[in-house]
Formats: sequence, structure tokens, C-alpha cells
Amino acid sequence: MASVRDVLRIGLTGGIGSGKSTVSALLAARGAVIVDADRIAREVVEPGTPGLAAVVDAFGADVLAADGSLDRAALAAVVFADADARRRLDGIVHPLVRARATELAGAAPPDAVVVHDVPLLVETGQASSYDLVLVVQAEEGIRVARLVQRGLTAEDARARMGAQASDEDRRAVADVVLDNSGTHEELAAQVDRFWADRVAPVLG
Ligand code: ATP
Repeated sequence: MASVRDVLRIGLTGGIGSGKSTVSALLAARGAVIVDADRIAREVVEPGTPGLAAVVDAFGADVLAADGSLDRAALAAVVFADADARRRLDGIVHPLVRARATELAGAAPPDAVVVHDVPLLVETGQASSYDLVLVVQAEEGIRVARLVQRGLTAEDARARMGAQASDEDRRAVADVVLDNSGTHEELAAQVDRFWADRVAPVLG
């Protein structure tokens, strides 16, 4: 098993609808191992996990659906208007996500390129955990239009953006910024350039 030192750790982030998943897929096609924080955040509170038990301990059985799984809407309603409850929830979930992400990165083969897709990388102050921070951005109106196509209302999309770090905050910690306001092909070309300039030289 590779030690974490042997792998190139890239932190990938961007606002909602900016194109993180699209960039992840392009990097995976080049051989990167993707560690998806959103996906892990769902896994660590699946039925039967210590994570779900801790959430129920903190917030009561009312946050469970009839089948014993986490009722995300009920939990969201609890933490939405209560910053203290939000912090308690984050205090349970974030360490579990980090531990699992570290475990997955540690299991990557030697000389792997590990891309951590972390929507809240800036909000949770994790920029220094990575060898390189890659930020994907797109104009706000374009992101809203893409999210509406995916089924969100424009109002909901803007509210979620407003609750996240700003593009400026993300740019402040970025080593490389990709602009996804254009076509998919234009984004793919930027990912190719990023790989050639910043990844390939490290791989040797
Ligand atoms: P989320 O924060 O919701 O996880 P994300 O940052 O991972 O979003 P994607 O899911 O990659 O973003 O992209 C958002 C939506 O925009 C998707 O439906 C995707 O197919 C579409 N999209 C991404 N890039 C482009 C592009 N260059 N042109 C057109 N549509 C795009």
C-alpha cells in the first residue's frame, strides 16, 4: 500500500453547479483516483453506521425515516435555522468524512494522482491538506441555468450559492483556476493543459 507521501493529492472545489463532477470525470479518464466527499458524506450516515447512531443521539429519532435511514429533509429543517445545531452536525459528520477520505487516499496505488472532490474545501479550511488546489468556476448566471436544467429552481440555486464561499474566497486559495463558463470541449482542453503542466511533470 502506498503511503500518502507517494501520491499527488489534488483538492478540487468550486461552487454549486460550477462543474466539479465534470472535471472529476475528465481527470478520472486520465487515470486519477477520485475521492468524492459528497458521496462519502452519504455513506458515513447510512443505516447501521456509527455516524447515523451519533446523529440520532444528537438530534433524536425524528430525523429517521420510517425505514430507518436518515431523513435528510427532517435533519435539514432542524439545522437550517440553528447555527449551533449545524455546528454539532458538522462536528459529527466532517471528521468521519475526513477519516474515510484519508483511508481511500491511502489505499490508492503508488504514484497515483488522487483528486479529492470537496465542495466545502474553502468553507472547512482544508486547502493546506493538499499538494495543489484546483478550483473550477463559471459565471453565476450560467451556473443557475445549468442547475435549473438539472431540476432546481433558480431561487433555490441562488440561495445555495449565497450560503457558500464566494468565488473570490476560492480563488484566494487556488493554485489553478479552470473557467467552465464555456463549452464542455473548452473545459476539457483546460483539464488537458492542467494535466500536462501541473500533473505530468510531478509524475515524471
Ligand atoms: P454540484 O455542486 O451540484 O455537485 P458540480 O460542481 O459537480 O455540481 P457538475 O455536476 O459537473 O457541477 O455540472 C453542473 C451541471 O452543469 C451538470 O448538469 C453538468 O452536466 C452541466 N455542465 C457542466 N459543465 C458544462 C458545460 N461546459 N456546458 C454545459 N453544461 C455543463
